[in-house]
Amino acid sequence: MIRIQKPSVPPEKLMQEGKAKRRSHCSSYSRNPIAYQSGGKIFSFDRNIYSHLSVKQALIQAQHEKCCFYERLIGTDGDVEHFRPKQAYRQVGQPLQRPGYYWLAYEWDNLYLACPGCNQRHKQNLFPLQNPAQRAVSHRHSIDIEQPLFIDPGKENPEEFIGFRGEIAYAIVGNARGQTTLDSLRLNQRSLPEARLQRLRLLKTLWQVVQLARSDNKSDNAEFQEVAKEAKSSLEKAFRDDAEFSAAARQVFQASFPFIIG
Ligand SMILES: [Zn+2]
Repeated sequence: MIRIQKPSVPPEKLMQEGKAKRRSHCSSYSRNPIAYQSGGKIFSFDRNIYSHLSVKQALIQAQHEKCCFYERLIGTDGDVEHFRPKQAYRQVGQPLQRPGYYWLAYEWDNLYLACPGCNQRHKQNLFPLQNPAQRAVSHRHSIDIEQPLFIDPGKENPEEFIGFRGEIAYAIVGNARGQTTLDSLRLNQRSLPEARLQRLRLLKTLWQVVQLARSDNKSDNAEFQEVAKEAKSSLEKAFRDDAEFSAAARQVFQASFPFIIG
């Protein structure tokens, strides 16, 4: 996971239709809170608003076509994901509670793009808090006092919480938020470390070429020096936010940075 910088101005669709829908959800809830809490009444959210093409495109661009959790390249295949779940929520190991954060269903700050895998299979309605008693359970409460256990990539830098030893993600100095995030989202599930490993292996090869060229810079093998220059440029691109698995790449190669850049 890396920090995500979304444009500060939300897409027009959310500002207009999203705001109107939010008002209508809030007044429906106020008229009959018990029915929404028991599940007798369920909100019907309009995905044509929160998942509108203009919203998706803004997220695709801000996230460099990558999943907000896995950093896999997903292109245009991602799902619009609600950081705070809209229909119902769950503390880890606890039963499902209703309603969810219905008033945030069309809020720009609450939306990200995720691959269908982590959105549907893993995150689902999970939204654990450090202190569940502080949970905002309706639009009359403030989310500002909540202390979510999930790292919010739009508000904080995930790289301060989650590190990488090779292809494996770990919680830096065992911090609880990093640990909960990586466990719940299964950042070390089988196919993901494998994909990171393939990436890191390729980068290691590029790095070796760069190192070889550095020790060989007295020779007049112009062709090899040219290849090494390409390798160095590819390596530098791999550390940028728009590269797949850039957090793992940055952390694993951090120690070598001065040599590569220098
Ligand atoms: Zn994902």
